[in-house]
Amino acid sequence: MRLIISILLVILIFSCEMQPSNSNESNSGNVSSNSSSFYPSGPEFLTAGKSEVSGLPYPPLSNFSKPEGGNPTNIIILDWAGFKAAVSFTFDDGQPSQVQHYTNLNKMEVPLTFFLSGGWGNNVVGYISNFRQAVSDGHEIGNHTFTHCYANLTSPATGGATLSSATEEINSNKIYIQNVIGQNQVYTMASPYGDSSWKQYASNSVFIMRGVWKGLVAPLDNTDPFNLPSYMPTGGETVHYFATNLTYAYTNKKWIIFCLHSILPGDNWYAGINITEITNGIKYAKLFGDMWIDTFCNIGAYWRGQKIVKAALSSNPIKTTINGTNYFTYSWNLPENFPQEMYLRVSNGGGTLMQNNIPLEWDTHGFYEISLDAKELTVVIPE
Ligand SMILES: [Zn+2]
Repeated sequence: MRLIISILLVILIFSCEMQPSNSNESNSGNVSSNSSSFYPSGPEFLTAGKSEVSGLPYPPLSNFSKPEGGNPTNIIILDWAGFKAAVSFTFDDGQPSQVQHYTNLNKMEVPLTFFLSGGWGNNVVGYISNFRQAVSDGHEIGNHTFTHCYANLTSPATGGATLSSATEEINSNKIYIQNVIGQNQVYTMASPYGDSSWKQYASNSVFIMRGVWKGLVAPLDNTDPFNLPSYMPTGGETVHYFATNLTYAYTNKKWIIFCLHSILPGDNWYAGINITEITNGIKYAKLFGDMWIDTFCNIGAYWRGQKIVKAALSSNPIKTTINGTNYFTYSWNLPENFPQEMYLRVSNGGGTLMQNNIPLEWDTHGFYEISLDAKELTVVIPE
């Protein structure tokens, strides 16, 4: 019964948001005829492809014309890359059951994040080849320290002794992910045991860290980037768990990060959930249509980038005039260990936006894409 209520709720939200002119379609007859296709099996629920400029996925709506006639310096940064809300599915430890069920997770065709501890690499069958495959499939590998210990170097879960220092735990694991697992850079971390004392070490190596306190992240909010919250099931949950919490995040236009452990059937190290419930949870997220599903790194970079550029836009620009045309330039810096080739989506009142003297192209999905690496944005204001 609760599932049916959830289904109705999502279809209702979906209908209201996406088809305001066809609100009659959300009557009960239509809902029951739709429920047979509630969990689609093919790629038809994938979004509208990706931007060739930014690599970010497109939200479902397009055919927006370039804004004209308003104030060119009234620049708005779209929340969550133009989607209504965001979700990251993260998996901790590189557990044997995750290796075992990787193929089914990968079939969901959404980018996932796996936090690995290299100390388990030689104990788990198929570990290295599996996570090398995950990298080439476009998933993210994050740092979870080498021996999965507390920041005070106690309780190494991989067995044996910890490395010589907290910094060494992070650095050696980063090198392991780069050299053995084959991911060029490691931008994010999850603290083992949710120990927030890892923060002081993590900030020297990554630009965001995930903790385990329960909460959501809002655009421009003051959540600590080195102790981001997550929803961590305790084991045995069903699709209801995902549906309820995804709906809550979607309704509040926030980022929800799931922290998942063992996948059943398989070795239940901690908080095991059946694979079907997890994949149905991912399908549920896709059903919203305008929920951004991406890695912890990609959504985290957008969230931090938005705050940085928003602050830059609130400060006074450098003004220059060339041949009667005014140029307002806003500039920013990026924090340590921030990933490269990240973008934000912005709109304004009209005119021309430039970066590095090159005018930006309007994207008919409703935005310009600005490079964070450019560290500046110039607004052209004709006299
Ligand atoms: Zn862990």
